[in-house]
Amino acid sequence: MVKLVLFDIDGTLIHSGGAGVRAFGRAFTGAFGIERPTEGVKFAGRTDTGLLRELFHRHRVAPTRQNAEQFFTRYVFWLAESLHEHTGGTCAGVAEFIGGLRALPEPPALGLLTGNIRLGAEIKLRHFNLWEPFLTGAFGDDHHDRNKLAGVAKLRGKGVLQRELSGEEILVIGDTPLDIECARAIGARCLAVATGGAKLPELVEHKPAWAVENLLKVSAEEACR
Ligand SMILES: [Mg+2]
Repeated sequence: MVKLVLFDIDGTLIHSGGAGVRAFGRAFTGAFGIERPTEGVKFAGRTDTGLLRELFHRHRVAPTRQNAEQFFTRYVFWLAESLHEHTGGTCAGVAEFIGGLRALPEPPALGLLTGNIRLGAEIKLRHFNLWEPFLTGAFGDDHHDRNKLAGVAKLRGKGVLQRELSGEEILVIGDTPLDIECARAIGARCLAVATGGAKLPELVEHKPAWAVENLLKVSAEEACR
């Protein structure tokens, strides 16, 4: 039985309508004076810190802590702004699925497993009134490698639940093959949803425990059994 459910954010819980990518670009331009810095960069399933490393490399900006701070200070500001300018929304079935999890006889703990930095995750989810259900999580500022984030989320879940968790007791929900890989890194089950970065057949190819069009297609009870 599942004790901890870890959600990816972009394409899984919400769509920011491009606000995240836009904020990334604005912040990079503001900090380093480079126009259209995100052109040709793939965002889905990546971590913010990993993406920033790529931008530093592409545009020959020194990858120092100071430069990263310059960037992220601007990023969180622009993220809040951009969310108001773009039309995003909650992904299909999210409210129903979370409601279903909370109604289970033994509700699992809910957490986040996301490449967003923690403050970015909070700004995005608060914008859609969706921050409150989550007790724990691992974020892009914990590690630039998404697969390492899964280990961090597992460890924090253990802290919240005050006991060791087996892989079978953790369910990771995400929208890209990178999420499936990341679940595999900690032996967790994966529920893949085609509401974001990847189409259903591509997700199926990576053999998650479930692959569905959206969260209306699977009940919380079934996914946690
Ligand atoms: Mg995603």
